[in-house]
Amino acid sequence: MRYLILSDIHSNLTALDAALEAAKGRWEEAVCLGDVVGYGPDPNEVIDKLRALGAFAIRGNHDKAVSGLADAEEFNPVARAAALWTREQLSPENREYLEKLPTGPVSRNGFSMIHGAFHDEDEYVFSPALAVDGLLSTPTDISFFGHTHIQGGFALRGEDIQVLHPTPPGANLFSNFHPESGTKYLLNPGSIGQPRDGDPRAGFAIADIDSQSVEFWRVGSDIEAVQQRMRAAKLPEARLHRWACGR
Ligand code: ZN
Repeated sequence: MRYLILSDIHSNLTALDAALEAAKGRWEEAVCLGDVVGYGPDPNEVIDKLRALGAFAIRGNHDKAVSGLADAEEFNPVARAAALWTREQLSPENREYLEKLPTGPVSRNGFSMIHGAFHDEDEYVFSPALAVDGLLSTPTDISFFGHTHIQGGFALRGEDIQVLHPTPPGANLFSNFHPESGTKYLLNPGSIGQPRDGDPRAGFAIADIDSQSVEFWRVGSDIEAVQQRMRAAKLPEARLHRWACGR
């Protein structure tokens, strides 16, 4: 089975559509590692699309705050303003969808899904030191996580942790990565809606666990169109500039 691994879509329908168009016909089931909403201008449209795809999603910290399950007071001012705006926009059905998203980690079909860290969905896994707990705790050899918006990951073999940089260079749409047996992996597909690794292209992965293959994708989209909708919605602009340069 080929899985489309999405994460951190952040209400960006333009980037999600670009990713789906590029990946058309290459996957069978879609999953999402959380942060469906927050920051971007299209919360209802993005949730509608995930529901139409039948995607299995776990919740992220923004989903939790927007649905009222967590206090948005802990967010920075930009994230808080976007969370409150998003809460007002959501249809009742889509608010219920967010409320009912399962909390990760969830292990199914031979891989695990984590939003932040294995033991704390709000923690960021930026370094080998922060990855080691998850690498030792996950019940599956391959786990996918999000939250940092940085495509890549970590591999644990024996006592050795390796940092992975699988992002396809330049005009390449994807790079192929082949997990080895006897090694545990924490893999981040990157962020669809708001990459923060210096590459503004939407990041995602397509994984075939049985044949030990993970493709890491980057697909460009019309950032200007998203910025125009954000301005029209009076969403905080501070994120716009970061977005355009992938930060
Ligand atoms: Zn996020």
